[in-house]
Amino acid sequence: MGPTDVPLAVWIGISALFGLVIGSFLNVVIHRWPRGESIVFPGSHCGSCDAPVRPYDNIPVVSYLLLGGKCRSCGQSFSVRYPAVELLTGVLFAMACVVDGPSLKLVFDCLFIAMVIPLVFIDADVRLLPSAITVPGLAFAFVSALVVPKLVGMSPKIGGGGFALGLGASPDWYVSLVNAAAGATLGGGLLFVLGVAYEVVRKREGMGLGDVSMMCFVGAYLGWELTLLTILLASIVGSVVGVAAARGRRIDEFQVPFGVFLGIGAIISLLAGTRILAWYLGLMN
Ligand SMILES: [Zn+2]
Repeated sequence: MGPTDVPLAVWIGISALFGLVIGSFLNVVIHRWPRGESIVFPGSHCGSCDAPVRPYDNIPVVSYLLLGGKCRSCGQSFSVRYPAVELLTGVLFAMACVVDGPSLKLVFDCLFIAMVIPLVFIDADVRLLPSAITVPGLAFAFVSALVVPKLVGMSPKIGGGGFALGLGASPDWYVSLVNAAAGATLGGGLLFVLGVAYEVVRKREGMGLGDVSMMCFVGAYLGWELTLLTILLASIVGSVVGVAAARGRRIDEFQVPFGVFLGIGAIISLLAGTRILAWYLGLMN
């Protein structure tokens, strides 16, 4: 009995459950990393009365609903963001399973999602993108490129990236590694240039090295073409949200956590990027 004998719906359910559990762990990372606390020890405890969260009160989403979002000991309300992050991770893992099916690619894509989510929330909270995630993430992206070759944007046909780089006769794993290197260079390089341009125009620092290293990691994972799409999507979403949030205020006062939008763009590109590109190229022809 192989993985294809089990209905896809079952795999989607399993992926969602994994996502809920991983999401619960990501909450710990998101909450503790900015405070410099260990993500392993001590176990979860109430931020108000310090009572440890019992294992049966630590079931993703379910416990939150059963306890009405309150601590069992002191009745302090927990943020709705805890179950929201769990649910988000579960939904994204399930969507990745719909796209990938049960495969090694699914495992890598879920790990990628599990690294992007804390980047998004930590950047939103404290305007930092931890290199503790982005640097190992870059290494992870290259391993992934080698194990599950990524060839989006690397077609050996005329006009494709593989053709332009003279890789028409190269093995997939090699083309995939070149794609990862190109994505990292393009992603990090573009963010660096954008950061410098912002500083020159606004006379203040906008995007930091965190954004550059995040896009090296994301770029290496997605390859050059989906990296361009990620930055485009991030700019669109960021502009819309930025304009909405800056209404009635001087725009300078609104410091945009661009990593949030890069993360949203990266996950859209991961799950729907090839369809978006195909749709766009269809419009052109
Ligand atoms: Zn409590």
